[in-house]
Amino acid sequence: MKNLRTVLVGVVLIPLVFATVTAAVNIDVPGRVTQGGIYVVTLSGDDTVMSARGIFARRNVHFNPTGVSGSFTGLLGVDLSASPEVRTLVVTVKKSNGITETLTRSITITRGDFSVQRLTMDEKWANKPDEATLKRIERETGVVTALYATETPRRLWSEAFMMPLIGGITGAFGLARYINGKPSSPHSGIDIAAVTGTPVVAANDGTVALVMDMYYSGLSLFIDHGQGLYTMYFHLSDVLVTGGESVKRGQAIARVGATGRVTGAHLHFGARLNYNKVNPAELMGKRID
Ligand SMILES: [Zn+2]
Repeated sequence: MKNLRTVLVGVVLIPLVFATVTAAVNIDVPGRVTQGGIYVVTLSGDDTVMSARGIFARRNVHFNPTGVSGSFTGLLGVDLSASPEVRTLVVTVKKSNGITETLTRSITITRGDFSVQRLTMDEKWANKPDEATLKRIERETGVVTALYATETPRRLWSEAFMMPLIGGITGAFGLARYINGKPSSPHSGIDIAAVTGTPVVAANDGTVALVMDMYYSGLSLFIDHGQGLYTMYFHLSDVLVTGGESVKRGQAIARVGATGRVTGAHLHFGARLNYNKVNPAELMGKRID
């Protein structure tokens, strides 16, 4: 009798336990992230999930299906200047039964370990620019700010990112910079040394979003990789592509130069992810499907 009861309880309980386990959406994301970092967020465990979207620190996290039913990956960016504090990742999933579910995860943002760089340049670059130049800078900032806020819905790349140029790194991401002793903005990209004219290739597939001659970054090229991910190529001597053109990973798109605020010829390689200033080196080797 006792054995029969145990069996019956087991028969009743086991399906309930299974039902609970299979319905739970797992969010795989680090509990601690660093300023300027890029992190893969994976959703799995519930094959009735049809789509997902996320928000972290007021910015979007776009999810894409991996091919395994109910499994999605997205890239989460942490801004270089994000406050070191606990923020919440909010993920909203839509299920095949029409139900929408919201899940949250607390993530601690930690300070990046950035060095100081002191540069000596022509006084022109250390002093406040004249009125006409300030207007120009304001106009250019407006154009790029609007660009970074534009998120092409579809992801335009599938293979891993590659460096656009192989060479010595003369300026790491995040450096606290002083120009002629005066504090300047932290370094928002990676400087790669090369002689003027060296070809620069696209870090991945995308669309040429903007080509512009800018005061600080000189001749500049912006590639849209979709879903709020952009890579930037600054201080160029020449651009080999035009706005709106599709580019392929590894395609020659520009040539190294020394235009804008520089101490010599190099490529400044930058990235933005959902408006966040992120370290482009963090894109390398990221598996997202
Ligand atoms: Zn730079």
